[in-house]
Amino acid sequence: MSRRLKSLQRRMEKSGLDGFLVSHLKNIQYLVGFTGSHGFLLVRPCDALLFTDFRYKEQVKEETHDCEVKIVGRFLWDELIKKTRRFKRFGFESLHLTHFAYERLKTGLSRCELIPEEGWVEEIRMVKEKEEIRRIRRAQKITDEVFQDVLPLITPGRREKEIAAEVEYLLRKKGASGCSFETICASGARAALPHARPGMKEIKKGDFVTLDMGAIYEGYCSDMTRTVVVGKATPKQKRIYQLVLNAQKAGVRFCKPGRKCADVDRRTRKIIEREGFGKAFGHGTGHGVGLEVHELPGLYSKSKEILTKRMVVTVEPGVYLPGKWGIRIEDMVLIQNGGYEVLSQSPKELIEL
Ligand code: ZN
Ligand code: ZN
Repeated sequence: MSRRLKSLQRRMEKSGLDGFLVSHLKNIQYLVGFTGSHGFLLVRPCDALLFTDFRYKEQVKEETHDCEVKIVGRFLWDELIKKTRRFKRFGFESLHLTHFAYERLKTGLSRCELIPEEGWVEEIRMVKEKEEIRRIRRAQKITDEVFQDVLPLITPGRREKEIAAEVEYLLRKKGASGCSFETICASGARAALPHARPGMKEIKKGDFVTLDMGAIYEGYCSDMTRTVVVGKATPKQKRIYQLVLNAQKAGVRFCKPGRKCADVDRRTRKIIEREGFGKAFGHGTGHGVGLEVHELPGLYSKSKEILTKRMVVTVEPGVYLPGKWGIRIEDMVLIQNGGYEVLSQSPKELIEL
C-alpha cells in the first residue's frame, strides 16, 4: 500500500470511518494512478477498490496500482453499495460528490451514517514527492521556453487570440500534453481583467500585455504570468510595474517552512497598499500547484495552511486599473529547508518590446 493511501487510511481511522469514497478524479489519480474520466475509489481500512466501466478495462491494467479493480456498467452504485453494506460510518468528499450519487448512497445504506469531509486527499497532495517535483519542474521549463519563443510575436496588429494560440501550440510542440488552463493573453484595458479571455482585440503600441500560461507534463501543471509592454513604457507604467515586482519579490522571499500562507498574502498586499493601490489588487496572492493548477494551499488572507517543505505554490500579486491597464507577475516557488527555490526562470524585469 502506498504512502498516499496509508495517510488517508490513518485519517479514516482517527475519525472512526469504515470507509471513504473518493469521487474527485484527480484525487483518484493521485492515490491509485487511474486517469480515466469515470470512476469511484472506495477506500477501506486495509485496501481500496476502484469502480469504473468497460471503456477503461485495458487502461486500468496498465496504470492503476494499490487497488482492486471492478469493471461495472450501469449498476455501479448497486455494486458499490454491496461492498459497503456493513459500514457504520462512511466518509465522502462533500466538495465532489453529486447530489444524485449522495441520494443513491443514502437510500442504499439506510443504516449507515454518511460523513461529509473536505480536502482530505487534497491536504496529502499539498506536499510533493520527488517525482512530482521533477514533473512540475519540467512543465515549468517548457513554459519558460515558450515564453521566450512567443515574445517576438507580440507586436502591434497581432490579436490576443493569435498569441494565445501560438502559446498553446508551442507548449504542445515542446512536449506538454496540454495547457494547465486556458491561456490568458490580455492587452491594453483588457489587461485590467485578471482572468480575461483572449479576444480579437489587436495589440497596440503602448499596451501592457499580460500572458498567463502553463503546461501539463506527465499529469503535472505549471503556472506563470508575465506582463510586458509593447514599445516604450510611460513613467507611470514603469512605476507601477516596479511596485508589483517589489511586492512579488517580497512575497517570494517571505516563503519558507513554518510561515503562514495568510502571512505571505499580507506581505505582498502591504507593499501594494502602502502605495495606495490596495483596492486594485483584488485577488489572493497565490495557490498550490500540482495535478491541478489551483490546489491547496491557498495564499490568501483567510487561508489556514502553513508552508512546509516540498510544497509548490505561486506568488502572483497584481494591480488592475479598470479602463486603463493591468499588471500581474507570477512565479512558482518550491518550499525547501530554510527557504525556497523559484522554479520559473523567465526574466521579471520589465520587458519593452
Ligand atoms: Zn497563472
Ligand atoms: Zn496562478
